[in-house]
Amino acid sequence: MRAIGRGPSVPRRLRNPRRSYDLEGRECEPATVANARQNGARGITVKCACNHEALIPFERLWPDEYVPDVALRCRCTVCGGRRIESYPDWSGGWRWKAGGLAPTT
Ligand SMILES: [Zn+2]
Repeated sequence: MRAIGRGPSVPRRLRNPRRSYDLEGRECEPATVANARQNGARGITVKCACNHEALIPFERLWPDEYVPDVALRCRCTVCGGRRIESYPDWSGGWRWKAGGLAPTT
């Protein structure tokens, strides 16, 4: 499913790399930390350009913060870099459930 954005079309050169845009070029609202939690994520994974990654538990995050923006507050503890991406950690089984492979208890 592709999110449909709102508001005016944004020229490509002005787009925010931490946002997604629909086919018309309108900015889509990213998932919030609360959304990810509701959908069964274990936490938010932050991954540095040096490949170091860490899982941040929901208890340490603000529920209404956008998932891609969590990275803005992080700094890598290995290389000190700030080229960090953040995304929900689904390893708790969301994908399995989506594929109908997990017991539905
Ligand atoms: Zn790093």
